[in-house]
Amino acid sequence: MTATAPAASTASIDTEWDAIVIGSGMGGLVTATQLASKGAKVLVLEGYTIPGGSGGAFERKGYRFDVGASMIFGFGEEGTTNLLTRALDAVGAKIETIADPVQIHYHLPNDLEVKVHRDYEEFIAELGDRFPHEREGIRKFYDECWSIFNSLNAMELLSLEELGYLMRVFFSNPLACLNLAKYLPQNAGDIARRYIRDPELLRFIDIECYCWSVVPADLTPAINAGMVFSDRHYGGINYPKGGVGQIAVELAEGLERHGGTIRYKSRVKKILMEGNRAVGVQLVNGKEFRARRIISNATRWDTFDKLLGEVKTPRAEESWRDRYQKSPSFLSLHLGVSADLLPAGTECHHIVVEDWEKMEEPEGTLFVSIPTLLDPSLAPDGHHIIHAFTPDWIERWQNLTPTEYKQKKEAAAWSSIERLGAIFPGITHAVDYMEVGTARTHRRFLGRVDGSYGPIPQRKLLGLLGMPFNRTSVPGLYCVGDSTFPGQGLNAVAFSGFACAHRVAVDLGI
Ligand SMILES: Cc1cc2nc3c(=O)[nH]c(=O)nc-3n(C[C@H](O)[C@H](O)[C@H](O)COP(=O)(O)OP(=O)(O)OC[C@H]3O[C@@H](n4cnc5c(N)ncnc54)[C@H](O)[C@@H]3O)c2cc1C
Repeated sequence: MTATAPAASTASIDTEWDAIVIGSGMGGLVTATQLASKGAKVLVLEGYTIPGGSGGAFERKGYRFDVGASMIFGFGEEGTTNLLTRALDAVGAKIETIADPVQIHYHLPNDLEVKVHRDYEEFIAELGDRFPHEREGIRKFYDECWSIFNSLNAMELLSLEELGYLMRVFFSNPLACLNLAKYLPQNAGDIARRYIRDPELLRFIDIECYCWSVVPADLTPAINAGMVFSDRHYGGINYPKGGVGQIAVELAEGLERHGGTIRYKSRVKKILMEGNRAVGVQLVNGKEFRARRIISNATRWDTFDKLLGEVKTPRAEESWRDRYQKSPSFLSLHLGVSADLLPAGTECHHIVVEDWEKMEEPEGTLFVSIPTLLDPSLAPDGHHIIHAFTPDWIERWQNLTPTEYKQKKEAAAWSSIERLGAIFPGITHAVDYMEVGTARTHRRFLGRVDGSYGPIPQRKLLGLLGMPFNRTSVPGLYCVGDSTFPGQGLNAVAFSGFACAHRVAVDLGI
């Protein structure tokens, strides 16, 4: 189905749509493509010039950089948790991927160097060699994560807010469902402490969680840990050829092939209400669009504080905010470097922590991705791209003059480059290109409140039970993306997209 071409007048109203999706992050795009593939007429309104949000890409001087995500789950060929493969497939798209033999090379205090190999046994053996007295505990902990993953991977992942689906899944997989129900209220730290005593190894489990949940194991839901700690060995980590931004490009093209429309430079200013119901949106230029359902891919804070600014925040959102807070943003360095900097055998992803006490502090943990080791086409000949990023808070970047901001950015960038020197000696002389992004940059270009990476628990919670699903207390309005179940990460927000589209499709009767 093709939408009626909208009139040029900024005051005109467009009323043709089944669903409007605000934002083309991975959560928004998966929702939109799923709905379009079911026959719904979908409009995606994206504030920026390209699709993908934190899963997008940008080009500078012959380098193609990933905006955020580079370590990609969900591209496996088998099971049900390969949600990126499935989302693309639903709109007739496929991306060639390059298998990463090692998920992460950790560089940790006390010279603890560990590689998480794609091969599970190789990883368990290597970690066991570092902690021989904990071999049994290591295996039991990671094996229990497999039990969670195997249950997830045995069922179609759709909306837990839809009773018909829940009954279907339960009756076809009762044991898997009961197993997942057992783990829903648990955290990864609870499981780790059942089997592991060594404090340094428990720290290792903390960084294993922190590197994607940005909280230590005690605050990380067991379901998410089961997914990440097992899928890296099952479907594996696979890099999309041409860069991560290709996923969003393919989904956006697939959406249009299925009758949907995506408009860039279309920032939504507010959600239009009729009585207590969301019925449309208004862009910053005044143009209005109406639809039977409105789906926000902006964070829940942006959705309820800004887009619904004139509506009193619903109690359910207030209570969610009592449980979850905004995580920090990142200081991001996108570097182009001479290829001879990297010795043969260098892995694509690295994590550096010099002091366990500082792991959660601003600039405490340094994340490093070098996608050109998998896909050299992303940089000019003889060069690599390096994305190095470290958690940082917006407060550190406010109330600065333009000159102070620039100087502070430069100083912070070179401080990260010096840290990188510990794993790549000589890097200070190898830099050919540098682009620095702060929390302010993330806020501006991704439209995310304070540039936050997403919600994190305020305190220890009952696993994933406190995360909201896609429906909201406002009739007609849904949320999708990393501030809905099950949280951050491209494959996780794809899950949220499948669930959201499923719930909306049922509500639309399609
Ligand atoms: C530095 C960094 C590294 C990361 N590394 C990884 C990784 O290696 N692996 C992994 O799986 N995940 C990683 N992530 C996390 C992952 O990228 C995110 O969890 C995921 O992309 C979030 O998707 P989303 O759909 O929730 O929203 P977003 O990506 O935030 O997209 C939201 C979109 O909505 C648009 N938008 C917002 N408000 C409006 C509005 N009012 N009007 C119109 N459009 C609007 C934005 O412009 C944006 O395009 C990383 C994230 C960052 C920042």
